[in-house]
Amino acid sequence: MTTALFSHPDCLQHQTPSGHPEQVARLEYITEALSVAAFDALDRQDAPVCTDDDILLCHPQSHLDAIIAAEPTAGTRALDGDTHMSPGSTRAAQRAVGGCLAAVDTVLAGKTMNAFVACRPPGHHAEQSTPMGFCLFGTAAIAARHAMERHGLDRVAIVDFDVHHGNGTQALLWNEPRALFFSSHQNPLWPGTGMAEETGGHNNIYNLPLPPHSDGRLMRATYDAEVWPAIERFKPQLIIVSAGFDAHMADPLAQLNWSTEDFIWLTQKICDLADEHCDGRVVSTLEGGYDLTALAASVAAHVSVLMERGA
Ligand SMILES: [Zn+2]
Repeated sequence: MTTALFSHPDCLQHQTPSGHPEQVARLEYITEALSVAAFDALDRQDAPVCTDDDILLCHPQSHLDAIIAAEPTAGTRALDGDTHMSPGSTRAAQRAVGGCLAAVDTVLAGKTMNAFVACRPPGHHAEQSTPMGFCLFGTAAIAARHAMERHGLDRVAIVDFDVHHGNGTQALLWNEPRALFFSSHQNPLWPGTGMAEETGGHNNIYNLPLPPHSDGRLMRATYDAEVWPAIERFKPQLIIVSAGFDAHMADPLAQLNWSTEDFIWLTQKICDLADEHCDGRVVSTLEGGYDLTALAASVAAHVSVLMERGA
């Protein structure tokens, strides 16, 4: 057993305007970082294109139709102030979803213990009918629904440590008692949601707002107090990670001061709980992270832990 890595060159075709933080170079830096000998043991697989039915696990047909119709034939088109499409964006997002679903299939089949999905655009801000925050489809939520609807799982935990609130995942899983969703995020910060009082239709949502300029010590104390005990009680059959690395101290979009070591700690703790409750099954999918060097180093550290634990 090892760690599966799902990616695809189509995810480089999704272009954003010059100067946009969610840029092609993010995936190029990650790919480069994962190309050194330390990662030779990764089980590298092409992220497949998802089906329309996969998207419809969380979104209405009208949203899928709107995304397809919005894709420009040249240049870029703004869906809102942050979210853009180019020729190939739909396909890239379909690879991101498809890669995440294939990662779930691989891990649940026992082919690898865990998996990382290195695709873009990210997904955790996309709501039912609203693309936003660089995201078109709710990748992590769709993967959770896929595990529940098609693999029959009753308990899926999703841990979102991106520095922004996972408002899309929250919206898509609000009334889903089989999913326990945790989002830690800087507050105040865009999109402004994610207060602790937002607890979902079944007390299945945990929001953990963290103040600007706080560091990994507060993050660790918060996860120790609120996240790990809730996961212990829930006994998940699979843990999905919305792995955003924009809480890193070097990130230009936010003001948390986490280090690469903090991402290692988080990954180790998640793997500990997965070992205890679900044979180590973890599927991690890339969300944010906008300082290219810090992103590449953090992803490499995250994947290294997955490989150690998946060996
Ligand atoms: Zn983010």
